[in-house]
Amino acid sequence: SRRLLEVRGLCSEYLTAVGAVPALRSADLHIGPGEKVALVGESGSGKSTLSHALIGLLPENARLTGGTIRYGGEDITRWSDHQFRSLRGARIGLIPQDPTVSLNPVRTIGHQVMEAIRAHRRISKAAARQQAQQLLDQAGIDRPAVRLRQYPHQLSGGMRQRVLIAIAIAGDPDLLIADEPTSALDATVQRRILDHLDDLAAARGTAVLLVTHDLGVAADRADRILVMSRGQIVESGTAAEVLTSPQDAYTRRLVANAPGLTEPAWAPAPLPEEPEVLLRAEGLCRSFTLPARRGEPRQSIRAVDGVSFSLARGETLALVGESGSGKSTTAKLA
Ligand code: ATP
Ligand code: MG
Repeated sequence: SRRLLEVRGLCSEYLTAVGAVPALRSADLHIGPGEKVALVGESGSGKSTLSHALIGLLPENARLTGGTIRYGGEDITRWSDHQFRSLRGARIGLIPQDPTVSLNPVRTIGHQVMEAIRAHRRISKAAARQQAQQLLDQAGIDRPAVRLRQYPHQLSGGMRQRVLIAIAIAGDPDLLIADEPTSALDATVQRRILDHLDDLAAARGTAVLLVTHDLGVAADRADRILVMSRGQIVESGTAAEVLTSPQDAYTRRLVANAPGLTEPAWAPAPLPEEPEVLLRAEGLCRSFTLPARRGEPRQSIRAVDGVSFSLARGETLALVGESGSGKSTTAKLA
């Protein structure tokens, strides 16, 4: 079978104050064109290290100490920064783990998406703006024309994640690496963003390496699951194979502990007898005014519109709503 990506015996270490600490210990994997592969494993198992090694984004204190990475038939293991820069975005797209640190806070969304588009194609600014708007629309962002003029802090976490997806697909890569793209988001937004990613990848024939803690997400979304433990791929198989007959001891533990694949381990807490009200919010409102554009009236967005609630001592209040509904703004106001 044709292989888009082939990693053999990859080893790496981090140089730290206490010496060289190994992170990847002979990791092997391959991904075919258009294939959807999930990489699961506990925190610290090396998922991000592996993803970053594939696109030449290891931090300064990291080095590869063995093995090979082949992409599209080429050995890219010892590529220079310059070579990797031409690969990233154009041939392999990365959706980074943390949307809050991955966007430039002082540049508009439009600037950043257009920059990603123009990095790979010589087109006019006007054409890039048009495409940026289309990409945001495809990534499921409402009112893309307005969003292009906004700054990252004016978007909800879910929308920022969608902007990063738009940036990752701007160069139309053959492989998308999505490093835990939704770990900071609530379950509904997470599901919708992953749906979008599925649709986009299917429509474009893009292969996806989906990095996640969540075995349930991996089983739902991927053609094949790779399990990583202590810097190695210890298991590779279809979701059915991995879930029903895990070969490796670590995978068996992971399957046994997977939330959603087993019974919930919690019960609702009993309510306190006479709750003392700690916080009472009545009719909270907040609107944001967008920067004025020449010849246009100033636009404003109502983020929070008459929200009331109270919170008793010791009580846990869940604020539930879709992405962009105003949860974070409400929390800040309160
Ligand atoms: P998570 O699920 O928490 O994102 P991960 O599977 O992505 O974890 P990595 O971030 O790849 O794991 O970390 C693998 C190992 O390398 C860990 O032991 C981690 O402490 C170490 N490590 C990661 N980044 C660095 C760094 N910049 N310097 C030193 N050690 C690091
Ligand atoms: Mg990680």
